[in-house]
Amino acid sequence: MPLSFISEAEPGRFLQLEVSQGSFPVTRRPFTISSVAGNSVDIIFEAVGRGTEILAETKEGRSLRLLGPLGCGYRLNSGKWLLIGGGLGAAGFPGLAAGIDCDQVLLGASSRGKLLTIPGARTVAITEDGSSGTKGLVTDLLGSILWDSYGGIALCGPVPMMKAVIEAIPVKARANVQISAEAMMGCGWGACEGCSVPKAGGGFLKCCSDGPVFPADSIDWERWEGIH
Ligand SMILES: Cc1cc2nc3c(=O)[nH]c(=O)nc-3n(C[C@H](O)[C@H](O)[C@H](O)COP(=O)(O)OP(=O)(O)OC[C@H]3O[C@@H](n4cnc5c(N)ncnc54)[C@H](O)[C@@H]3O)c2cc1C
Repeated sequence: MPLSFISEAEPGRFLQLEVSQGSFPVTRRPFTISSVAGNSVDIIFEAVGRGTEILAETKEGRSLRLLGPLGCGYRLNSGKWLLIGGGLGAAGFPGLAAGIDCDQVLLGASSRGKLLTIPGARTVAITEDGSSGTKGLVTDLLGSILWDSYGGIALCGPVPMMKAVIEAIPVKARANVQISAEAMMGCGWGACEGCSVPKAGGGFLKCCSDGPVFPADSIDWERWEGIH
């Protein structure tokens, strides 16, 4: 990778990867930059449809075209950070945790196999089926958190999970929450407006170019949950 690419691969930004050498799928697929090491960039992905299935079948050593780094990443304000992730929503946390004063990571997933590992970070895990950590939802881990002690809170996961977490955070501390959004995406650079996210106060934000990382209070959570 060229040096300029690596230096711009900040936590929270993403890549648009051309998963197929054929005519389907036409559009590239977005993936969070998980971490950067030397002159390489890692992504973590799950096969959920044809595009990611093709990617999963791609043989090692094959070249794929990509666009990026795209979008706006985390504002890395000072102080201790708390990271809260649901399933593969935590894919960007390894790189983020390495660049901040990360106090702890709370991870929730449906089962052990869906839990990510965040190298070097103190992690508390919870699974819906109890196969790793306690049995329950990530919101069950929030009761003892000292919210005022954090300068930054990163949150990523399914929309209902993120909404439930935000509702559990005292209003005063919500201004410190930055969420990483995922929306069905077309172009990846703000032209097609396919990845709209409802904006607090009306209108829409573009996940690809206004985000994907947003202050939590810039989102209209009721409307966003309604379209999921
Ligand atoms: C900024 C951003 C970063 C992302 N980072 C990662 C990552 O690090 N790892 C990872 O595994 N995935 C990530 N995703 C989601 C990933 O892009 C989709 O899973 C992928 O595009 C699906 O392509 P497909 O052709 O396999 O599935 P499709 O056939 O296009 O869709 C299969 C199913 O997945 C759903 N889906 C597709 N795209 C999205 C999406 N963006 N959000 C929610 N549901 C979707 C569809 O509604 C459908 O139910 C990210 C998405 C965005 C917008």
